[in-house]
Amino acid sequence: MAPKRVPMAIGALLALTAALTVAPTTTTASSFAYLNVSPVEIDTTPAGGTSTDTLYVNYATGNRTFDVTHENKGTCLSTHFEEDIRGVPVSFPVSERQVSWNGNTYELKNIHYHAKGEHKQDNQPDYPAVEAHLLHQGPGGAHDLLVLVVLLDVNNSPSPTNSAHDDLLVTPPNECDPAINRNVNLRGLIPTQPASPAQAGSWRYVGSKTTPETHGGSDYWYPVQFVIFKQRQTITPTTLTMLRSRWSGPQFNAKPLTAATPTFSETP
Ligand SMILES: [Zn+2]
Repeated sequence: MAPKRVPMAIGALLALTAALTVAPTTTTASSFAYLNVSPVEIDTTPAGGTSTDTLYVNYATGNRTFDVTHENKGTCLSTHFEEDIRGVPVSFPVSERQVSWNGNTYELKNIHYHAKGEHKQDNQPDYPAVEAHLLHQGPGGAHDLLVLVVLLDVNNSPSPTNSAHDDLLVTPPNECDPAINRNVNLRGLIPTQPASPAQAGSWRYVGSKTTPETHGGSDYWYPVQFVIFKQRQTITPTTLTMLRSRWSGPQFNAKPLTAATPTFSETP
């Protein structure tokens, strides 16, 4: 009789596995189209032409306080590629950290960093040194995400001045250490040229998250709107060294490009 119990056990295990891996019940069929899309190579002559989606950045000017942490996904003693150094806005109201996307309000939840670029321009041989993701949540909640992407190059001038990103990332805490307060020029975290963040040129596409919620997870189910600013910002070599020290190269905490080919659009 023993051999007959084995298939039954496997069947039960498969059923349990299926139950555990199925997407949350709020997932719509169309969401599956976005599974594991991002990151991708940026189409700098986008097939989608000029974007008609409107973006207005309503961040407050001046310094605001962020809690800076090394996000923990797993144990405090093991660092995983799905983790990041991030700043979470504290002590200032939503009205000072929101954007308008097609008329809907999206709230900045965090800015986090990938210690190597995740998106690469199709007209450039190398990835940017670092990629900042400003994650916003819209009226649809945790599955209604808009990510403003800032690509960062290394400031190799002899006496580089700190950017707002350096101010946030300087001497970041180790995993599970208490959060560190940093005062950062909020508007300084995104490009301001040519005239305003709303007008800054960008590439746009609909993709997915690039990291799951948990170490070893795979919840890339939901569509994420990406806006990648064409204008880059900088970090200093010192900051880059500190950031990269947390992970092993060459990928650090950057997800490799997928094979997906979403349609890009742009604003000039
Ligand atoms: Zn990210």
